[in-house]
Amino acid sequence: MNIEQIAGRMRRECLAADGAQLIFNDFQKALPALRQSKLYELFRKMPKGRLMHAHIEATFDLRYVLSLALSCPDTYVFTEPETPEFRYLQVAHKAWFEGGTIPAGWENLQQAVAARPELKDEIFEACTASIEMIDENIWPKFEAIFDRYKALNNYKPFFIKLYTKVLCEMAEEGVMGVDFRYISQTIFDEDGRRLSHDDYVDLVKEINAAVQEKYPWFKVRLIYSYYKGVPAETVPDRLEYARHLCQKYPDVVIGYDMVGDEACGKDLNYYADVLRDAGVPVIMHAGESVDPANNNIELALKLGINRLGHGLNLFQHPEVEPKVKAAGVMLEVCPLSNQLLGYIPDLRNHPAGGYIKRGLNVTLNSDDCAIFDTAYLTDDLLAAYLCWDLNIADLKRCLLNSLQGDPALTSFFESQWASFENSL
Ligand SMILES: [Zn+2]
Repeated sequence: MNIEQIAGRMRRECLAADGAQLIFNDFQKALPALRQSKLYELFRKMPKGRLMHAHIEATFDLRYVLSLALSCPDTYVFTEPETPEFRYLQVAHKAWFEGGTIPAGWENLQQAVAARPELKDEIFEACTASIEMIDENIWPKFEAIFDRYKALNNYKPFFIKLYTKVLCEMAEEGVMGVDFRYISQTIFDEDGRRLSHDDYVDLVKEINAAVQEKYPWFKVRLIYSYYKGVPAETVPDRLEYARHLCQKYPDVVIGYDMVGDEACGKDLNYYADVLRDAGVPVIMHAGESVDPANNNIELALKLGINRLGHGLNLFQHPEVEPKVKAAGVMLEVCPLSNQLLGYIPDLRNHPAGGYIKRGLNVTLNSDDCAIFDTAYLTDDLLAAYLCWDLNIADLKRCLLNSLQGDPALTSFFESQWASFENSL
């Protein structure tokens, strides 16, 4: 039997099992059962290519974040109702507070969990997205999660441990490298000092180099990111930092993006003047929406952008799809993110299966895997295979797309793939 027959049989078994409807309607909840399947084992072993769409902090293992926090006497949790400044169940290292002074409403984390052990699970849940969160306020709720643990995972000693673990685990999962979106100047040291733009990149490079001693092929690149919805006049400053970093670290910092809810009231047209002369490659979240009035993909094309985060709502603009195809624009599709943020309630309706079959340049990605409690890449690939009636050859094409024609990476991937097939 060849790989298509083997995987096809395993897929039929998964889809015939009790509770298989969850695979389509709530993939996250279907995962514990799926992880016991032969198909999951096969996908776990599969060579993965590069992960092209992930937000650095949202890949940090939350259980590990909490265990680091609980082993440190200087961490705190905010247990009062939400204020404009702090989130309910936000966690922080002491160094994050102005002058190291703990404001009212914050309890020492070790003491709080000793008194109320259930608090640990409550924090974990408050930092994890699920289908139940979906309503008209999903984006504020989703963004609150990032706030909730930013003051722990950006504490430099924690960041180093968390980031090292992520890279090693990705390599073990068969991921060949990653392009991380990141917000600069977020890391702070023991004295509460923020790392500069350059120091952030230097730190990331240093950790990558250490990881490459064990996984020499594994390479990280960074996409300097800012927020959607900000006033256009604040963007040139950020672009200048991005240009500086791209020039200083051409192998590491590869572009500029603006992240956040596309329904923020400011589309790419609003930013067109500043982005047109960016002087740096723009790699943009666009079309992360199912609103037909959202035409960010077309606006991105007009700006010459050839790599789009999501590109989900392309199906609502049939006149744009041939242009995307002709220009070879890469769509960084994130199936499980789209379900957990409420865009695609039934994964079978996700349009990217069609994009792949019609030969668009699709890559598959996980976006915010720690917050979604999913794997770095295995689970999104599996969701695509189970829900979109694809062949393994279709998935392999998406994985090859992530290598962007790099001859060395492609030949390495093909040799990995040959060993994978031979091992079946
Ligand atoms: Zn994203």
